[in-house]
Amino acid sequence: MIKIVGAKLPDGNVIDLDIDNQKIVKIEKSTGNLSAGAVDGRSKLIIPGLVDMHTHLREPGREDSETVLTGSRSAVAGGFTAVSTMANTNPVADNAGVVEQIYRLGKEAGLVDVNPIGAVTNGLNGEKLSEMGAMADSIARVRIFSDDGKCVSDPLIMRRALEYVKTFNGIIAQHAQEPRLTVNAQMNEGSVSARIGLPGWPAIAEEAIIARDILLAEHVQSRLHICHVTTAGGVELIRWAKQRGIDVTAEVTPHHLLLTDDLVENYDPIYKVNPPLRTQKDVMALREGLAEGIIDIVATDHAPHPSEDKDCEFHAGAFGMVGLETALSVVVKTMIQTGLMDWSDLVDRMSTRPAKIAGYPTQGREIAVGMPANLILVNPDQEWIVDKNKLKSKSKNTPFNGLQLPAVVTDVFHNGEHVMKNRQILNAKEGSYGE
Ligand SMILES: [Zn+2]
Repeated sequence: MIKIVGAKLPDGNVIDLDIDNQKIVKIEKSTGNLSAGAVDGRSKLIIPGLVDMHTHLREPGREDSETVLTGSRSAVAGGFTAVSTMANTNPVADNAGVVEQIYRLGKEAGLVDVNPIGAVTNGLNGEKLSEMGAMADSIARVRIFSDDGKCVSDPLIMRRALEYVKTFNGIIAQHAQEPRLTVNAQMNEGSVSARIGLPGWPAIAEEAIIARDILLAEHVQSRLHICHVTTAGGVELIRWAKQRGIDVTAEVTPHHLLLTDDLVENYDPIYKVNPPLRTQKDVMALREGLAEGIIDIVATDHAPHPSEDKDCEFHAGAFGMVGLETALSVVVKTMIQTGLMDWSDLVDRMSTRPAKIAGYPTQGREIAVGMPANLILVNPDQEWIVDKNKLKSKSKNTPFNGLQLPAVVTDVFHNGEHVMKNRQILNAKEGSYGE
């Protein structure tokens, strides 16, 4: 049995909480007595483990950037107890064999739930639907399908995919980007791209697909999820769809809540990301959309790349940033410290709602007796400085290196197991804790 003493719930109540047999078995008003062997929760918040619906763990195929194990360690360090892994591995996760392999690797790592996302089309080629039914029936029980990295741009394929997933209550997560409008694009199309002479990526390339897919989802009465919304216009379209009662959900990444396209001015590929960093006006609209709940969730789009793919000329650099270990802190900085949200809202956007959209019944639940013990302790008042060399991820491509951020995740309980103890991560094979 694990006993946590003196932790504060987002509603302000200070509690002692017992975990046994993967579940919360007792909650009482804190006595403040730190008995031998108890976990010291004093001056910390206790909240449900975070759920990331959009992460790239690169295995199989690019184990030089990340593996399921190193990615799981990175997730735990960031306070996540479940991640959904995108299908653009090599081979692509477009069949039951590959999703089962990723699922098993996640179980072996034993730190967080690793839930594979299946590809919508074979080989992400946008032409022929994958074996979605076989992936849904596999031990990985896939419910989210996405060609992320690429847009399902053919409207007929998108329509069929939306229709197909209805049979098992699945969802299509779209990387909304009209490919014809983004050929060779390197950054946001705007005054900065014009000044520094990089090919631009117009907001309308994203908005045109969001608008089309909202209408398709309404037409076939299916579930649509929009990945990484980056534009003010995108937020407006999703607002319109929700008012109309269309079953659409959306995510924003932490980096799009903080960073803007003028950072690209010195041609540093660390700021190269797909979709691109936009303008301050977009950042403000994304923050407001998230606070309002028009954008449902935060998802990291954790995209590890080895240094040789980032320490190069801008044109040659890979798109993407790591994000699992900084996500919570960036959301605290951009949404809580600005007064737009409180901790209960953060729990909703980073745990409750993503678990609900993804259909993970043991995640994102309220803290109550009988509930699965997927919990984290956070010191909200502690600040830390991001040091890329100390990240647990195998890749170090963070745009936040050197930045001071609020909030430190100290402990993580995954299915009742203490997988991170005072920042030390459990090595499941040896049963020991270490950096
Ligand atoms: Zn994407």
